[in-house]
Amino acid sequence: MYKQVWENCLQFIKKNVNEQSFKTWFSPIVPLNLNNQVLTIQVPSQFFYEWLEDNYVHLLKQALTREIGPLARLEYSVIVDKGNDSNQPLSVNIPANHSSKHNGNSIKDFNPFSLKGIGVHDQSSNLNSGYVFDNYIEGDCNRLARSAGYAVAKKPGVTSFNPLMLYGGVGLGKTHLVQAIGNSIKDNHPGKFVLYVSSEKFINQFIDALKSHNAQEFSNYYLNVDVLIIDDVQFFRDKEKTQEIFFHIFNHLHQSGKQIIMTSDCPPIELKGLQERLVSRFKWGLTADLQHPDFETRVAIITRKMQSDGLIIPEEVVEYVAYSVDTNIRELEGVLISMIAHASLMKKEVDLELAKQILKNLVRDIDSEVGIDYIQKTVSDYFKVPMEDLKAKTRKKEVVIARQVAMYFAKDYTNHSLKSIGAHFGGRDHSTVIHAVQSVNDMIDTNANFRHKMDELKKRMKMRVLV
Ligand code: ADP
Ligand code: MG
Repeated sequence: MYKQVWENCLQFIKKNVNEQSFKTWFSPIVPLNLNNQVLTIQVPSQFFYEWLEDNYVHLLKQALTREIGPLARLEYSVIVDKGNDSNQPLSVNIPANHSSKHNGNSIKDFNPFSLKGIGVHDQSSNLNSGYVFDNYIEGDCNRLARSAGYAVAKKPGVTSFNPLMLYGGVGLGKTHLVQAIGNSIKDNHPGKFVLYVSSEKFINQFIDALKSHNAQEFSNYYLNVDVLIIDDVQFFRDKEKTQEIFFHIFNHLHQSGKQIIMTSDCPPIELKGLQERLVSRFKWGLTADLQHPDFETRVAIITRKMQSDGLIIPEEVVEYVAYSVDTNIRELEGVLISMIAHASLMKKEVDLELAKQILKNLVRDIDSEVGIDYIQKTVSDYFKVPMEDLKAKTRKKEVVIARQVAMYFAKDYTNHSLKSIGAHFGGRDHSTVIHAVQSVNDMIDTNANFRHKMDELKKRMKMRVLV
């Protein structure tokens, strides 16, 4: 009797949802009994139940009313896994439209990471053990993000930094930092299930799961995680279905005090193509950015890398490289690696000459994209004005001139925007940079002594830039 009733409900539902949704969300349901107009259905998990309630409650009600009458009610029976020692699923009844505490999830033998085409280094957490706090250099550029990460690593899910959202441009250390958090949690809390996944991988797994009708197993797998690290969520852009499932996973984990850590290449507010409700969740915890590393941090990073590779390179080389490459840390590492490769191939020491050669040949960009720091250093040496003063508020005449000259060269020799140049000079705005360029041009036109200085400086600059 109840089977037939449910079968009729299904016929009705089938006409009102698309095939994929029907297969994913209705085929797995097992009718259990019908008693006093209460139909009990068994669903595979708590998540499944919530999904039905969120998305299909009206449809279910309609179907039930048609079959049973206006007093019809629905009750869910959720399969709960009672731990590893029990293979018998346990049922927990949940009346429809009635919120309830979670009792656990049904965890089947399903692991989206074992789906074909998905490579993993470490089946259990997908973390790269080389990314740790120990080799993550701290600087002004990452202080907030790093200390928030550190706090989360100590007490995952407990701090108010949940979710922890880190954002910043490419190569600035997002992946390294979130993996360091993951590795540290694994060390501090061996019992916790930490999972790192890139958002591309998450999307592909979800698509595969949909294709193989494993959507609910997919969610169950993720709902079982204690610390979920999702890298580069900007790739969720315009992926409606993925966002939906992620939204549910997110809510679920968050509600049960599980830690969520995410990265993105831009601040949440600029995440275009993401549902508003998802973006607003991202802002619940702490959002911290990673900025371009300053000169001192770059020196520290280079020194650290060299040490860990057992290499010694002269200080002037370290400084030269740090001055010249101010784009991002990944590029900095690229330069170091090729320097070392050249040195060992040519059986030469790494010295300034080699560094210059390599920087010249390596990346075309570097000729034109000489770092602003490098320009500032050259100008400050030439005018004997401390480099900090170029970025400071000082209005002393000789400082103002040096600052304007440095801005002028930054405009000429780099591809930085006026805004970005201003930012490199203590956060001045772009009109200040325009004004500086004009003043320098005026002085070149009207002051022979200044013109001579500029020629000299240009030679120096070119020598350094191109040698
Ligand atoms: P993103 O994910 O932001 O693109 P990554 O985390 O992949 O950047 O970092 C690029 C490279 O720079 C990695 O090899 C990483 O180890 C290194 N790196 C980034 N930040 C730091 C840092 N603060 N200290 C040491 N190495 C760093
Ligand atoms: Mg990354």
